[in-house]
Amino acid sequence: MALERTFSIIKPDATRRNLTGAINAMLEEAGLRIIAQRRIRMTRQQAETFYEVHKERPFYGDLVTFMTSGPVVVQVLEGEDAVALNRRVMGATNPEEADEGTIRKTHAESLEANSAHGSDSAENAAIEIAQFFSDDQIVG
Ligand code: ATP
Ligand code: MG
Repeated sequence: MALERTFSIIKPDATRRNLTGAINAMLEEAGLRIIAQRRIRMTRQQAETFYEVHKERPFYGDLVTFMTSGPVVVQVLEGEDAVALNRRVMGATNPEEADEGTIRKTHAESLEANSAHGSDSAENAAIEIAQFFSDDQIVG
């Protein structure tokens, strides 16, 4: 195992319900260190670029609208095996299938409004981090 970084987003359904702190506590309790964090309103262009891999999926338009519907908190997390660890802490994409104690099981509203994003590979983590943070904004 190696010290790794991953990219995380606290999604609009969670910021709207004042859950930023509760979700951060779950991340930190799992051993993930928040080494950069900023609250932003994503532009349509940013959301489209971020979810470009899903462009052909039927839910893409709704997803972009949802991600721009309110503030999000973009984050860089660091820890041992951070990409996989964060995915475990978040739980399955569909909250109905997520394990007890996970962020999505505990907090998500629906398959779309599922409270958190986490990179799915170290390669994508690097790309996603670079979309929202410059190196000097990350303090490891
Ligand atoms: P994320 O990329 O946000 O971390 P994920 O990797 O678990 O989530 P993806 O398959 O990459 O899941 O889907 C990206 C996001 O698109 C999901 O988190 C969810 O918000 C939304 N989504 C995925 N599938 C559907 C669907 N069938 N209907 C509506 N929204 C969906
Ligand atoms: Mg994904």
